[in-house]
Amino acid sequence: GPALLFVKTSPGKEEGRRFYACSACRDRKDCNFFQWEDEKVSERRLAAREEYNRNHQPSFTHEQNVDRYKNFMRLPLSKRRFCQECQQLLLPAEWEKHLDHQFLCDISTAQLQSPSQLLCPLENKKTNAQYLFADRSCQFLLNLLVDLGFRRVLSVGTPRLHEMIQSKASQEKDFRVRSLLLDIDFRYSQFYTEDEFCHYNMFNHYFFGGEAARETCRKFLYEENGERVIMITDPPFGGLVEALASSFKKLMAMWKETEKEGHDNKEMPMFWIFPYFFESRILDFFPSFSMMDYQVDYDNHALYKHGKTGRRQSPVRIFTNLTPSMIVLPEEEGYRFCTICQRYVSSGNQHCQICNSCTSKDGRRWKHCVLCKKCVKPSWFHCNNCNCCTLQKHSCEKTYVGCFVCGKAGHKRSTCPSLSCT
Ligand code: SAH
Ligand code: ZN
Ligand code: ZN
Ligand code: ZN
Ligand code: ZN
Repeated sequence: GPALLFVKTSPGKEEGRRFYACSACRDRKDCNFFQWEDEKVSERRLAAREEYNRNHQPSFTHEQNVDRYKNFMRLPLSKRRFCQECQQLLLPAEWEKHLDHQFLCDISTAQLQSPSQLLCPLENKKTNAQYLFADRSCQFLLNLLVDLGFRRVLSVGTPRLHEMIQSKASQEKDFRVRSLLLDIDFRYSQFYTEDEFCHYNMFNHYFFGGEAARETCRKFLYEENGERVIMITDPPFGGLVEALASSFKKLMAMWKETEKEGHDNKEMPMFWIFPYFFESRILDFFPSFSMMDYQVDYDNHALYKHGKTGRRQSPVRIFTNLTPSMIVLPEEEGYRFCTICQRYVSSGNQHCQICNSCTSKDGRRWKHCVLCKKCVKPSWFHCNNCNCCTLQKHSCEKTYVGCFVCGKAGHKRSTCPSLSCT
């Protein structure tokens, strides 16, 4: 799909130089596409690019994969193999080609219903960053949206939620929630039909399946028989917020266009799951959103599982345009309702009388700094040099470029105080 237009700035120069690069891969090692905005590209280079793209297509189309799946389901258990090296379901005729690969045998229907367990998570930090919901968090999200009365879930980069919905729907007669998965991980096309999965890039709103896939999505968003839709997304955290926001606005517009009357001033309901230190960035693009205190947990995210004290500490939250008081957080997991803020908060999150709000972002009790006129992390202190609250250990020298994560000057992304768990 289309590349994104970036700008390279260098200190001292006012205007940066603009260039195109891959929207999905933020690491040049994964995709080396680069082109200055004003660059003339020779015929030869264009041809070479096309050739490269042709050679890097998946070995089967989605349509072929759907057929293969049907055939696979007809096989007896003893003939159902999954090649771990190629991350592919194998039909008996193909075994020979994969003999020296590691493979799994006796793939059960239950395994086919939870592809996120079968496929190995793509943990490449900058490109895919597949961090799967812990069962508890996935269950919580599903219960929440069912309780809120939603019948359709547009799952954007949430394969585990999608598969939980799909398998529940196939097992329980009166469970009537449906889900459509949009994800860049094409391996999922082996397990879902074109009505259940669209190969999609959420950084440039690109449907790889063209107009047909776009139409599938549009149809799904059309709220027939009063079946209300919610979009749930959990993008890679390294992702550019502006690119994501622009795509999500296009999905919202798609929802809005599906019905002529009815949703005049309404927005498509949405959960955007993202770390709390992106709060101000997200609110810049979606002023109607608010951040919930619920800590979303992951199975394979070593970093976020345990803080120094050994307790679970995830910085990942739910941002939503639904009324905060409707998002009921479980008391047994330590959340309570603040009647002044009219929302559920972590039990450690105290209501600050001066800020007149429950100000903690990480679940611990924050303290109010009169000089900064706001609440800050308990481990921070007010530095008179920097004229703000920060970590005790910091260097007061200022750098010109703002931090990539929080946008503040004085530190780089790697040392951003909002990333630290202490
Ligand atoms: N917690 C979720 C998974 C989130 S990980 C769950 O358990 O369901 C991020 C997801 O976004 C992965 O599924 C990954 O394949 C997908 N993804 C990464 N980059 C993407 C892109 N550019 N467009 C669409 N999906 C992308
Ligand atoms: Zn409060
Ligand atoms: Zn305060
Ligand atoms: Zn201060
Ligand atoms: Zn300082």
